[in-house]
Amino acid sequence: MRYTSPPVMTPALQRCAVHEQRPAFARCMSCSKMLCQECATQWDGIWHCAACLSTKRGAAVKHRPVPAWIAVVTASLILLFAGARVMVWTAAVIAGLF
Ligand SMILES: [Zn+2]
Ligand SMILES: [Zn+2]
Repeated sequence: MRYTSPPVMTPALQRCAVHEQRPAFARCMSCSKMLCQECATQWDGIWHCAACLSTKRGAAVKHRPVPAWIAVVTASLILLFAGARVMVWTAAVIAGLF
């Protein structure tokens, strides 16, 4: 008996989600929309549609300005400085009192 493998399914030509007349060029990795060459934008080595790209960019911009560790380091430095000053001041007061 001869086993005949089923014919390889040729996927129907994918079309751009925005431009139905254009063949798909890439797929958005976030919403898996099909995109034509004009709609697809590569960012961080991944294809994105315009909508997902702006969301990604917005999120990146929001997170970038002040990394949390800088705030923590600054706060602890201020505390250290203030603490040292308070200690010196308290010592001076105690020295003056006694
Ligand atoms: Zn998308
Ligand atoms: Zn398109």
